Amino acid sequence: MSAESELLEKIRVLSRPVRIMHICGTHERTISRYGLRDVLPAEIEVLSGPGCPVCVTPEEEIDRAIALAESGVIITSFGDMMRVPGSNGSLMDARSRGCDVRMVYSIDDAIAIAKKDPRSKVVFFAIGFETTAPTNAAAILRNPPENFSLLLSHKLTIPAVSELIKEIEVDAFIAPGHVCTIIGVHPFQQFAEQGFPIVAAGFEAVDLLLSIVMILEQMNGSGKYSAENAYPRAVRDEGNVRAQEMMYRVFEITDSQWRGLGTIKGSGLKLNPEFAKYDASVIYADLISEKMKNISYEKSASSLCHCAEILKGKEKPDNCPLFSKKCTPSTPVGSCMVSQEGMCYNWYRYRGADSA
Ligand code: SF4
Repeated sequence: MSAESELLEKIRVLSRPVRIMHICGTHERTISRYGLRDVLPAEIEVLSGPGCPVCVTPEEEIDRAIALAESGVIITSFGDMMRVPGSNGSLMDARSRGCDVRMVYSIDDAIAIAKKDPRSKVVFFAIGFETTAPTNAAAILRNPPENFSLLLSHKLTIPAVSELIKEIEVDAFIAPGHVCTIIGVHPFQQFAEQGFPIVAAGFEAVDLLLSIVMILEQMNGSGKYSAENAYPRAVRDEGNVRAQEMMYRVFEITDSQWRGLGTIKGSGLKLNPEFAKYDASVIYADLISEKMKNISYEKSASSLCHCAEILKGKEKPDNCPLFSKKCTPSTPVGSCMVSQEGMCYNWYRYRGADSA
């Protein structure tokens, strides 16, 4: 019997009605790819939360990057980010209008562009959760050239979960393995103490099935919940302390806006004053506000895209009238259809366009 079959058998024995939310785009990819929802008992519902960094980047932050690109700044970003719609098109659209927007594989690629032409102004559009922030902090500590700066859109997981549990119906969480490698499992204990069993999981099907077994064991146990670790080969309870120190040497916590979730207190990062010379939102504040002064976000908020509800686990992609019709991976209308970690992308790819 395979490990997966054994775990599924345990899940069947422990099964009970439960709504489990994961907060990780890579988890969604594994769950969709291996059809895990289809092999679990029907009473176990696995919801997708706001765990895809591309998906949660709000229109305003993409608009800021486009405003800079339209002002002659070289914008560098990961490939997925280039296709995410802002209020009036994507960075890719800006590139097709002649703006200098370049895809990079790392912050070091962006720094290399700045070093190669000291007269250029190069901005790295830095997105992602606690997983990617330490890498960007390390790059800043290496003193990149002063024609290089960061446009920050980092998000912090814990404040987002704190907000989510106020408004969604969920019983337990699968904690994101990547994020836990940095911050550890301890910060999630507060949710266990509020009545939500939570287990950190890796990215293979077997890892996710194990996390579900561990959640069900907690729920069928004494009623005392805790944050547990089903991914000990990569996650330590205390996380990567050195990476945390580096992150908070360079960045400080600030409020941040999330697509679909609005502004969440203390859920983002900004550069510490010591590193303000690398903060594109400070250096180019006038350029950005001039370009963005006429943008209205009311129109976008009323669009037909259901990403806001999907990112909170309240709806599935089939509920969106645009799914697989106007919105497909090659013609994404919302951010959840762009990235391989997005719920709509995975629903389209693995459940098929016919699921609408
Ligand atoms: S299918 Fe497209 S438009 Fe609909 S919610 Fe998903 S990303 Fe938004």
